[in-house]
Amino acid sequence: MARQLDGLVGYIATPVNLPCGLMARLRYLTRTPHARQAARAAGLVVTERTLRLWLGGVRSPSRKNLERIEQAYTTVRRENIARYLTARLNREGRGTRVEIHPLNQSQVDGPRQHVLELRTLNVRRWDRIVAAWAAGDGGELGRVSKVPGGGLWGMLDNPVAAMMSVMDLEPQTDLARHYDSGGWLARFAGRMLVVCPRCGGRALVIPRPGIPDPRYFSELLFQPRRLACGGCGAIDGWKPEVQGAGLVGAVLGGSEDPFFQRPLWLQTRCAGHILWAYNEEHVDELSAYVGARLRERGGARPTMSMFARLPAWMKGSDNRSEVLAGLEILRELAKRTAPADRSDAAHERGDRPRAHRSMYFRGGPYES
Ligand SMILES: [Zn+2]
Repeated sequence: MARQLDGLVGYIATPVNLPCGLMARLRYLTRTPHARQAARAAGLVVTERTLRLWLGGVRSPSRKNLERIEQAYTTVRRENIARYLTARLNREGRGTRVEIHPLNQSQVDGPRQHVLELRTLNVRRWDRIVAAWAAGDGGELGRVSKVPGGGLWGMLDNPVAAMMSVMDLEPQTDLARHYDSGGWLARFAGRMLVVCPRCGGRALVIPRPGIPDPRYFSELLFQPRRLACGGCGAIDGWKPEVQGAGLVGAVLGGSEDPFFQRPLWLQTRCAGHILWAYNEEHVDELSAYVGARLRERGGARPTMSMFARLPAWMKGSDNRSEVLAGLEILRELAKRTAPADRSDAAHERGDRPRAHRSMYFRGGPYES
C-alpha cells in the first residue's frame, strides 16, 4: 500500500511552464496508448509528430497548448487516481469503514454549534463519491456525501480528505494504527518555526494563547493561530473560515506553514530535494524513523505508518546517511534565530497544497 500511496501522491509539482515540468507531464500523458487516448479525450488534440517534437525539445508548445497539457494532465491523473481509489475503497463489496472525529466548534457561534460525537460507518459503494470528485462536481459530491448514518461528511467539507484519512485508517497489518484525520503530520503542527515576514529571522506559529488543548491532533488545524517573532516583535493572527456549521481547517503539506504561508525555518537541501520539518520534535521523530530503518537488518521492528508515508527518496538506502546529516542541519538551525542564520533553502516555492480537492494529492509531505 505504501508503494501505491507513493504513486498516488506523485503529483508533478514543477509547473508546466518550466521545461522539466512540461517533460514530466508529456511523458505521463504519452507513456501508454491508453494514456494518449485519455489525453486526447481530455482536449490535448495534436499530431504524433508535434508530440515527438515537444518530447524531443525541438519545439515548445504555445501558451494555449501549455494550458491544454496542464488540463489534460490534471484530468487524466484524476481519472487514474479515481480508478484506484474506487477499487481500494469498495474492497470487492466489503466497503470501507469511515471514522469521523468531531471538530472543535468552540469558534462557531452558539446557535450554530452542533453536538458531535465520534461516529463510524461503513460505506460499501464508493463509485459515485469518487466519480463526482474526479469530475470536479461539488454539488453531486455534497449530495452523495450524505451517506446513511452519516451526514457528517458535509462537516468535513472535503470528501477527498476523508478518503485519504480512510486510507490512513487501514494500514497494512502490523503497522501502527493511526486515527488522526489530519494525518501523522498534524502531530507536529502545534508549534511551527517559520521565517518571520518582517525581519527574516525565526518566528513561531502557535495556537492562540488561552484556548484549550486539543483532544485530537487534527483539531490543531482548526484552532486560531498566532505568529510571533521574538527578534523584531512582528505579530499576526489566523482564524479558520466558517462554512455552514463547520470550520475549514488548514491543510498540511509542502514547505510552508499552513496558516500564514510562511516558508518553514527548518529547511535544507538534501539529496536533490528539500528536507523540511515543523519543529525540533518533528526532526527527532524523523531521525528516529530513518535511523531505525538502518537498524532494521539487525532485527529491530521496522516501520510505522509515519514512515510508510515518507517519500521514497527519504527511505532509499542510498540516501539514508545524507538524510540523517540533513536532519542534523535542521536540528542546528532550530537553535538559531537571527535573520543571518536563515537557511538558503528557506524561501517561498509555492508548493503548499492549494484549496480544495486536488490538493490532497499534491506532492508527498516532503517533496519539493
Ligand atoms: Zn521578525
